[in-house]
Amino acid sequence: MSVPPKAPIPVKPSYWQDILDAAATILKGMVVTIKNFGRVVFLRQAITITKKWGSRQIALRYRGTIGLTIDRRTGKENCIGCLACERICPDHCIHIETVDEKPGHKGKYPVVFIIDNNLCSLCGLCVEVCPTPALIHTELWQIGGYSHRDLVLDKQRLLEIGEWQQERWIRMGLGTVDQVTGRKSMQMTDEEWQAEEEKKRAAAAARAQRAATARQQAPAQARSSSEHGEKRPKEISEGETASE
Ligand code: SF4
Ligand code: SF4
Repeated sequence: MSVPPKAPIPVKPSYWQDILDAAATILKGMVVTIKNFGRVVFLRQAITITKKWGSRQIALRYRGTIGLTIDRRTGKENCIGCLACERICPDHCIHIETVDEKPGHKGKYPVVFIIDNNLCSLCGLCVEVCPTPALIHTELWQIGGYSHRDLVLDKQRLLEIGEWQQERWIRMGLGTVDQVTGRKSMQMTDEEWQAEEEKKRAAAAARAQRAATARQQAPAQARSSSEHGEKRPKEISEGETASE
């Protein structure tokens, strides 16, 4: 029994095309390198930025280390402890503990706020979902440390980072965090807070007064309706008699 000859391996039509593409790519890269080589060696033009970091304006959309902010108008923390950021974080690197109330603070108050920068991928979801201007991306990119613990930032550190960024925005003429982010702080000054509390107390007192009045009037109404109920058949029968 004779063995059939092997079919020749077909040459892919893209084979030579791939080689040409690779050569063109290398050539393109070399053109850039040679151009920059000429600028540095012959024209003495610098390619790299040698200025100290900080003298350059970084794009507002830059996603640097996350910071927590304070409302400049009231001096209070912007976070209302809604936990939306903790829930949405895909890396589970936010940890928050809140208390239900803190006098003078609107919303829940975060007593513990930790971001583990070892895990944070700077995806920005927490900043996006925050209903107040509490969380921001800063321009800080060079955050580092000698151990993993150095990158676990507590509330104090996060607030310092947020304040540093807000101060920088103000110096650059961009305004406070609510002007830059377009989100409104929910916090109030102490005077506004007192006025709101006063309003709430007055409303509660008015409600209690209305309830007490209603309770007092209820037996009198019941008495009058029962009297009315006794008279009514008589009146009807009288009316019926008259019509007859
Ligand atoms: S930037 Fe992304 S990964 Fe980092 S804390 Fe926010 S949600 Fe989590
Ligand atoms: S930082 Fe923003 S999203 Fe996170 S708990 Fe505070 S208010 Fe809510």
